Amino acid sequence: MSKKIRTWMISALAGVALFYVQAAAAQQEPDWSKVQIKTTKVSGNIYMLEGQGGNIAASVGEDGIVIVDDQFAPLAEKIQAALKDLKITDKPVRFVINTHYHGDHTGGNVPFNNAGSTLIAQDNVRKRLESGGTAGNGGSIKMDVKPAEKAALPIITFGHDVTVHLNGEDIRALHFPSGHTDGDSIIFFPKNNVVHMGDDFLRIGFPFVDLDSGGNVLGWIGALEEVIARLPPDVKVIPGHGPVSNLDDVREFIKMMKDTRGAVARGVQQGKSLDQLKREKVLEPWSNWSGEWITSDLYLETLYNDLFRGAETFAHRP
Ligand SMILES: [Zn+2]
Repeated sequence: MSKKIRTWMISALAGVALFYVQAAAAQQEPDWSKVQIKTTKVSGNIYMLEGQGGNIAASVGEDGIVIVDDQFAPLAEKIQAALKDLKITDKPVRFVINTHYHGDHTGGNVPFNNAGSTLIAQDNVRKRLESGGTAGNGGSIKMDVKPAEKAALPIITFGHDVTVHLNGEDIRALHFPSGHTDGDSIIFFPKNNVVHMGDDFLRIGFPFVDLDSGGNVLGWIGALEEVIARLPPDVKVIPGHGPVSNLDDVREFIKMMKDTRGAVARGVQQGKSLDQLKREKVLEPWSNWSGEWITSDLYLETLYNDLFRGAETFAHRP
C-alpha cells in the first residue's frame, strides 16, 4: 500500500484517538513532532497544506489569510509557521472554514480560535461538534464522538451558503445536505479557479460514508454531479485527502460510486444478503480502490446499509 494512504490512515486513526472515546485506548497518537507541513502552490494566491489529516486550502494575500480546514490541534503552530514562511503577508489567519465536522478537519479549531481566527461552518457542523454523537456506517464502523469544547465551535454558521470577500476574491462555501455527512460544504475560489471539495472527493481509495452523521451515497453522487457541471473544465481540485486533482479524477470517482452502488443494488434486488454479496466478491472489479481503512468489505457493507437506510427513510416519509 502506498505511503500516502498509510499516512492518511494514521491521520484518520489520530482523529479516532483524539475524538472518539471508544477507540482512544486502542490507538496510539502519532508523534506530532515528526509531522512536517508541506505547502504546494495550487494557483494564484491559493496554497494547499498537507501534514496529517485533511488537506488545508489557504488564500494568502494583502487582506490576510483564510484557511479551509485545520487538521489537528498539535499542528496549529506548524501550520501558522508554514503560512508565514510564504512571506506574502504578516497578517493573521482571519477566518477558518470547516468543510465538515470530522476531527481530522476541525481538530485545529481551538488553537486557531484562541489565536483570533473566526471559525465558519454550516449549521450542522456546529450542531454535531457541540452535541457529539456517533460516526459510522451503520455497521462495523462505529465511533463515539465526544462533544467538543466551546472554543472549537464555529462562531458564524450558515444554512445554504456563505461568501467571504477577501484578497480580491469571493470565496464561497456551498452546503450539500447529504453526502459524506449532513454538514458538507464545498469551497469555491472562483478568481483562482480552485475548489476544495472536503471529503466529498478523496484520492485514497473507497470513501467513508458517515451514514450515522447523515451521509448518503445518492446525495453524495448528486452533489458532485451538480458541482462539476458548474465548474470550468480546467479547475484545480483540492481533495479532502490526496494530491491536487482535476475534473477527470472527480468523474472517475463519481463513476466508481455509481457503478459500485448499482452492483450492490442489483444483488439486493435479487434478495441476496450482505454475507452472500461478500462471498460473491461483488466489488471485485473495483478492488484497486480498496484502502487500508475502507476495504472492499467495509465499503460493501456501507453501500448495503445505505440502500436499506434509504428505503427506511423513504418508508417513513410522511
Ligand atoms: Zn471526513
